[in-house]
Amino acid sequence: MKYLYLLGATGSIGVQTLDIVRANSDDFKIIAIAANKNIVKVREIIEEFSPEFVSVGYERDAIELQKSFPNISFGYGEKGLIAAATYGSIKNDLVINAVVGSAGLAPTIQAIQKGRNIALANKETLVIGGELITKLIKKHNVSLIPIDSEHSAIMQCINGEETSSIKRIIITASGGSFRDLTRNELKNVTVKDALKHPNWSMGSKITIDSATMMNKGLEVIEAHYLFGVDYDKIETVLHKESVIHSLVEFHDTSIIAHLGNPDMRVPINYALHYPKRTSYSGKSLDFIQLGSLHFEELSVTRFPLLKMAIEAGKSKGLNPTTLNAANEASVGLFLNGKISFIQIEEIIQECLNAFDNDLDVTLDKIMKRDIEVKNYVLLKYS
Ligand code: NAD
Ligand code: MG
Repeated sequence: MKYLYLLGATGSIGVQTLDIVRANSDDFKIIAIAANKNIVKVREIIEEFSPEFVSVGYERDAIELQKSFPNISFGYGEKGLIAAATYGSIKNDLVINAVVGSAGLAPTIQAIQKGRNIALANKETLVIGGELITKLIKKHNVSLIPIDSEHSAIMQCINGEETSSIKRIIITASGGSFRDLTRNELKNVTVKDALKHPNWSMGSKITIDSATMMNKGLEVIEAHYLFGVDYDKIETVLHKESVIHSLVEFHDTSIIAHLGNPDMRVPINYALHYPKRTSYSGKSLDFIQLGSLHFEELSVTRFPLLKMAIEAGKSKGLNPTTLNAANEASVGLFLNGKISFIQIEEIIQECLNAFDNDLDVTLDKIMKRDIEVKNYVLLKYS
């Protein structure tokens, strides 16, 4: 039995994680969950999975829930989220971080310090805290297993080979909702159109990140920290079918790819059961029906945020935090109809110019910069 601490339980990844837990109830037990505002869903999860500890975004919701469930412990806000990640002292445990945004960093750090293994969907954790997390993982000897489909694919392609034998990693990109539009056509796109991803059904923030290609930039940084591979060995390619989830070329020119239908429950199932590979009832790929697969160059002129993100990653220090905070704030403003789609990239560039880099990163500095940049964007553009 593996004991699970699920952060972001009500979201797209959270709900699909619960599907895997439901289908494997002899293998897993949910001990703690954390969510933000979707209290109806929180109640459903409590009724079905009976966690011991539950954290929500706001105190008033925690108080109401406590009245309905007197035998469960409740927390709220940032402290509650950390409490959910560090609750109790059971062995054979796994924290699944499916929170969206920079809020995921602090609970991940505290869970690692407690010696807990992490299954990570929250890529922002590695983007802003990669330097801290990689050191902590070694120090506390815990596993960090990616849930992001490309990184789960890469991990399975590498499958124990030495990092020194990797020639390059190739991360595939679906291209997002606007992949067939020119830059000129992007000027008048709507939120509704941006939220229509061609291949994946995901939370709103990552769906917009896919359309701007920021998501692929964040994934390059994520791959750099997860696999310890230099940026000049990490490439991206447009692959509209989302059937090849990523590829790894070794020095003997052999390329190993990971294929499957686009279904996040596959990497979630892998991460939850890791190091075992178990069965999953998903649909198998039909190659005859598929017929062919396509690849195109991902143009950095068409998708300037891809380059901006990789440059921020390479420059290290607080620049990735500035990039990520500017992105979170401007995507939020776009979703609320306050700015245009094109303004997202303009605001991120503006923030990278306005905020100096600092190579000496600490958790406090990252969280301070995160708030400063978000406040700067919100004050100026909302
Ligand atoms: P989502 O918006 O659907 O869900 C986010 C979850 O986090 C919700 O349960 C929400 O209540 C919770 N949450 C948000 N802020 C919180 C806070 N401050 N405290 C506690 N809980 C909070 O997002 P998602 O699409 O599930 O994505 C989650 C993460 O996984 C993101 O980092 C995303 O980039 C990554 N990811 C998602 C997918 C996908 O298919 N959805 C694929 C790869 C990676
Ligand atoms: Mg991905």
